Order: sequence, then C-alpha cells, then structure tokens
Amino acid sequence: MNITNNRLSKEQYEQNFADIHPPFENKTAAQVEANRCLFCYDAPCTKSCPTDIDVPKFIKQISTDNIKGSAHTILSSNIMGAGCSKVCPVEKLCEGACVYNLLEEEPISIAKLQRYSTQKAMENNWQLFQRKPSNGKKVAIVGAGPAGLSCAHVLSRNGVDVTIYEKESKGGGLMTYGIAAYKVTPKFCEDEVNYILSIGGIEIKYNQELGKNILMGELQKNYDAVFLGIGVGVARRLGIPGESFEGVEDAISFIYNIRDKNYSLIPIGDKVAVIGMGMTAIDAATQAKRLGAKKVTLVYRRTEAEKPCTDVELDIAKLDGCEIIWLAAPKEIKGENGKVAQLICSKMMLSETDTNGRKTPIDTGEIFSLDVDMIIKAAGQIPFEELVDMNKMENKNGKLIIDTNYSTNIKGVFAGGDAVNGGKEVVDAVQAGKDGASSILEYLNLTFNLI
Ligand SMILES: Cc1cc2nc3c(=O)[nH]c(=O)nc-3n(C[C@H](O)[C@H](O)[C@H](O)COP(=O)(O)OP(=O)(O)OC[C@H]3O[C@@H](n4cnc5c(N)ncnc54)[C@H](O)[C@@H]3O)c2cc1C
Ligand code: SF4
Repeated sequence: MNITNNRLSKEQYEQNFADIHPPFENKTAAQVEANRCLFCYDAPCTKSCPTDIDVPKFIKQISTDNIKGSAHTILSSNIMGAGCSKVCPVEKLCEGACVYNLLEEEPISIAKLQRYSTQKAMENNWQLFQRKPSNGKKVAIVGAGPAGLSCAHVLSRNGVDVTIYEKESKGGGLMTYGIAAYKVTPKFCEDEVNYILSIGGIEIKYNQELGKNILMGELQKNYDAVFLGIGVGVARRLGIPGESFEGVEDAISFIYNIRDKNYSLIPIGDKVAVIGMGMTAIDAATQAKRLGAKKVTLVYRRTEAEKPCTDVELDIAKLDGCEIIWLAAPKEIKGENGKVAQLICSKMMLSETDTNGRKTPIDTGEIFSLDVDMIIKAAGQIPFEELVDMNKMENKNGKLIIDTNYSTNIKGVFAGGDAVNGGKEVVDAVQAGKDGASSILEYLNLTFNLI
C-alpha cells in the first residue's frame, strides 16, 4: 500500500491540470474557421443543442467581427455558454450533428468558436442584458449549480428579486466541485458565477443547507415561489464485501477534494482501480494519473459499445495512459491490515437479447484479481431521498417528479436539473433552469422575456 501525496513538482501539477482547450491563435484563425460554416437552413447543430443556441447566427457574427453580438446570441440562450463551451460533450451534440460529418470532413469547431466570443464577454465584463425594474416578486432558489443559476438569471432579467440558498461556500455546483480541473479551472468557474451575478437582483446565501439551516416551510412563507436545483447526492455503493477498507473512495469526494484543495495535498495510490465508465469515472481516472498514480485501470462490466462516456472522453483516458478492462464486474475487495490490497472481479459476458435497449452483463463464473492500493468508485450518484421524503415531495427513488410546467406536487415549488433527471449534463440543467423560470413567471402572472 502506497497512498501518498506530494508526488510531483509544482510545475508538473500545474502542467497536468492546465486547461486542455487551446484558444484560437488570433482573430484571423477564428474568422477562417467561422467562414467554413455553411450557415445551414434549419441548422442541425442548433437542433441538437438542448439550450437551442442559434449556432449559424453566432458564427456569422464572429465572421463579421461582431463579437459582442455573437456573445449575446449565445448567452441569451445559455447563460453558462462560456462554461458549456468547455465541458459540453459536443461530439454527441452540436459538433456531432454538423453537416460536415456527412461530407466526411471535420465538423466546424463550434465549441472553440463559442469559447472565443464568450471568453471575451467575460474578460471585458460586457453587460449584455438589462434587468427589468423590480416588480416586487421574490423567489427562493435552492442550489447555486447550473440549474439554479440559469433559473435565477432569467427571473432577475424579468424583474424578480432572487435569493439563492447554497450549502457550499462557492457557487457553480458540480461545475465548481465536480468536473475535472483540466476541463474548467476553479478560477474560471468563480469568474463565470460572478459574471452571471453581475446582472444584479440575485443574492447567494452560502453555507445554507435546506433541511438543516433553512426549512421548506420558511421558504414557502417568505417567497412567492421556490425553485429546487439541488442536483444529486452521494455516490452509489457497490454493495460488495470490503468497501470499508482504507483506500476505497468514492469518485465524487475524490474529485471534490481535488477541486477544493491544493493538488499536492491529495493522497493518491500507486495502483488505482476506477470502477465505472461514465464521465465521472473518466474524470477520476485521468485525474488520478495526473496526480502521479503509476497505474490506473478502469473496470467496466459491459463492452466498449455500451460505454456511457463519449469516444473523446475515452481517448483522453487512453492518452493519459489509463488501462481498461471491459466485461469485468467487481465482486469483492480484499485488504491487508485494514487497507485495500486486491480487487476481485468476475468476468462477464453480455446477454444475447436487449433489455431496455441494452444488453445485460452476465457473470461467467470466472474470476480474476487486480493488485491495488486504491479503489475509486464511480458507479453513479443517489438522489437526496431523505430531504425529498422529509418535505413530502413526490419522487421516484429520490428523483423529484415534476409536471410539464416544472412544478412539483407542492404548489409554488418548482424543480429542475439533475435533481429531476437523476444526472445528465450541464447544458440540460441550464435549459431546465430556463424552463423552470418561465413556468415561475407564468405562475406569478409575469411575462417571460429572454431578450
Ligand atoms: C465528476 C463529474 C463530472 C462531470 N462532467 C461533466 C462534463 O464534463 N460535462 C457536462 O456537461 N456535465 C458533466 N457532469 C454533470 C454536470 O456537472 C451536472 O449535470 C450539472 O452540474 C447539474 O446541474 P444542477 O444545477 O442540476 O446540479 P449541481 O451542479 O449538482 O448543483 C446543485 C447545487 O445544489 C447545492 N445543494 C444540494 N443540496 C442542497 C441543499 N439541501 N441546500 C442547499 N444547497 C444544496 C449543491 O451544493 C450544488 O451547488 C459531471 C458530473 C460529475 C459528478
Ligand atoms: S451544421 Fe455545421 S455547417 Fe451547418 S450551420 Fe451548423 S456548424 Fe455551420
């Protein structure tokens, strides 16, 4: 067992965790890329964006050097357009839908162009939206993640006074505390939250947890409506023997620590196994490698064809030197002197037929073991069942149930984002925040205006 911190030099940590998105070298490079766009009618790139960004319009604006206009086009649809340009899995969204793919040519670098103009908007603190005068209505939002912030911005633009209650000491939700630092740096997340708040009319009360420091009843009494953007909670247990050995960690707390502390303070093993193959698993594996682990192995119970992460994410893990074992399910964790020493896995095979569109992994009865000194569990997150039950909110295994108006079963209480969908992507949470705000404005008899 060799879990230690401070494995690399300060320069190596900085290099390993630097932003992986190189910007355009200059204005000409951005305009050359923008001019490749065919400005398609009924553009498939826009249709595949959950926030409906008018992609050809903002690219056209870049090609004519109207960067402010371009930033306005993006941010009026998606106030976290800057962050989304760094974290969105664009290969399965806008860039994946670009018509150039059909011509077997490189799709337009939509995310890079989006970064180009939104970064300028943030750097120059361009105020692209004007808040309507206050109309006296007050809304409480719980959670300052993408769903809560996006909801708050739309409400504030429409003259509503918003108070966000956030249990952490920083805003941004999983953008700040979850997503890998080489995709978005903590400093960028802080800047983005400040940029969103610069419209005015939004106050964030930090270190305020619903169910602990504040109760739902108080929010209902003191505000005209409530929006819950609380995300999903703790990591799912594997349910196998040995999970409590020292050295077995869950990916969410592992990544939270990387985001919250100095890299050199994070203990990391020599031989790390990561269980899962979603975005969280990839982020945990690549960051374990970047913190100095000698060997990182991703273990997944299905085949590459069923993996939940994208090809681009898998390539990042492979380029970082992570190894992958397909068709393997953890069966037991063995330890020595209370510390993790081995991961015992079953070899799996897939069923012939599909259930819910996916083949089921079946235990072949064969087992194998991996020598490890650290195991990171990334087998999904569990919704806040206790909090939701405590407030008598209709839910399915903790996931809040809402109607088509984003309303929960409690009058005046709305919800959206991961808390409802169980965990999707930032861009989905931003759209849910917008839709939730639109329903709240209707509930308050106010007009919805996104200009
Ligand atoms: C490791 C990891 C990597 C990811 N990588 C990507 C990626 O690369 N790209 C991508 O698009 N998406 C990624 N995602 C998913 C993405 O982060 C989420 O879909 C998105 O953040 C959901 O937004 P949200 O606002 O619904 O919830 P969250 O971002 O979870 O925000 C919820 C907020 O509510 C607060 N809160 C919770 N309970 C309470 C309470 N009781 N009282 C007060 N406040 C509370 C939380 O502290 C948090 O700030 C990743 C997720 C994880 C876990
Ligand atoms: S599909 Fe591609 S080429 Fe067409 S408008 Fe979108 S980015 Fe431009």
